[in-house]
Amino acid sequence: MSTYPVANIDLAALKHNLERVKTLTPKSRVMSVIKANAYGHGAIHVAAALSASDAFAVARLDEALQLRGAGIEQPIVLLEGVHSLSELQLAAEFDLSPVFHHQSQIELLSSCQLTTPLSFCWIMLETGMHRLGMTVEGAEDALTEMKKSHNISGQIGLMSHFANADWVDDERNSQQLMRVKQFSEQYGLSVSLANSAAVLSYVDSHADWVRPGLMLYGISPFEDKTAHELGLEPVMRLTSKVIAIQDIKQGDQVGYGGCWQAKQNTRIATVNIGYGDGYSRQLSNTASVSIKRQLARVLGRVSMDMIVIDISGLDIEIGDDVTLWGNDLLAVEQLAQQANTIPYELVCQVSDRVKRNYYNG
Ligand SMILES: *Cc1c(COP(=O)(O)O)cnc(C)c1O
Repeated sequence: MSTYPVANIDLAALKHNLERVKTLTPKSRVMSVIKANAYGHGAIHVAAALSASDAFAVARLDEALQLRGAGIEQPIVLLEGVHSLSELQLAAEFDLSPVFHHQSQIELLSSCQLTTPLSFCWIMLETGMHRLGMTVEGAEDALTEMKKSHNISGQIGLMSHFANADWVDDERNSQQLMRVKQFSEQYGLSVSLANSAAVLSYVDSHADWVRPGLMLYGISPFEDKTAHELGLEPVMRLTSKVIAIQDIKQGDQVGYGGCWQAKQNTRIATVNIGYGDGYSRQLSNTASVSIKRQLARVLGRVSMDMIVIDISGLDIEIGDDVTLWGNDLLAVEQLAQQANTIPYELVCQVSDRVKRNYYNG
């Protein structure tokens, strides 16, 4: 059985990053965001490692049910809320905390009698992102309905989401914060607004609950600051192995489309990872990998299952380990820039085919 590629997940680094959040936000509670399989890191293992979180947040009901099924007991917030009566009933049954971001969800709440009422839920206020959220008037009506509803027994919080938190000092951030404060102060609601970028750069926005995702995984949300500079430790190291080595001649081409051609005789190695594992095809002919503490360039196109690298002058054998990202030579942030995307996408794309290896637990 093939045992590679592997996403090595450093559980001690995860815990360190949560401690970093807590140090930065001493007055706030922490809702650790573990949607999309904890950004590709494996939601159940991550939730267990981050048990010092005050709550977890996921996007969808299925993600929350999976965590409950694994015995996770903290409050779990459903960032997209529920979309049908049966989802609402399941949310209540499993003591989940839905966000109400749309009038249609309030109508679901008013249309039924839940056997167990919701013990904790949220109103999402639209403040500038224009993705999910109610207008001030809509939120006022929703709050009135929710307060009188027999289907809610506990706290109602106020949530909103920054559209530009990675742009430090952008005035749109302070506008969003002001809109949330106006509403929360009028109705005495606890507030959650800050994602990772705001946790790291916008103290005034921390409020009652922070919602970090990316930084927990040891990744910087800022283009101009490394994780190390922010006191974060990378959690995922993506590795695979060399499965073939060959010597090619000047003029030979490598890979689909022959889009890399040898200018001189070259020693190349084939590595067992490709876009079918989540190693982006955008990295074709651009990225480097690390092997025996040296960088080696990716030659030609990334295939579904393999890449080819230049190992000229290196002492490499079949079976040698290759790191694609996540060590001190290769940050995922840097790879994301090379792939014209954001690090969120690279880690989320690591597919099921890649084994997760949890260590330092
Ligand atoms: C994904 C998400 C977060 C976490 O954002 P990061 O940038 O990963 O910290 C917080 N809040 C909401 C509503 C989200 O969708």
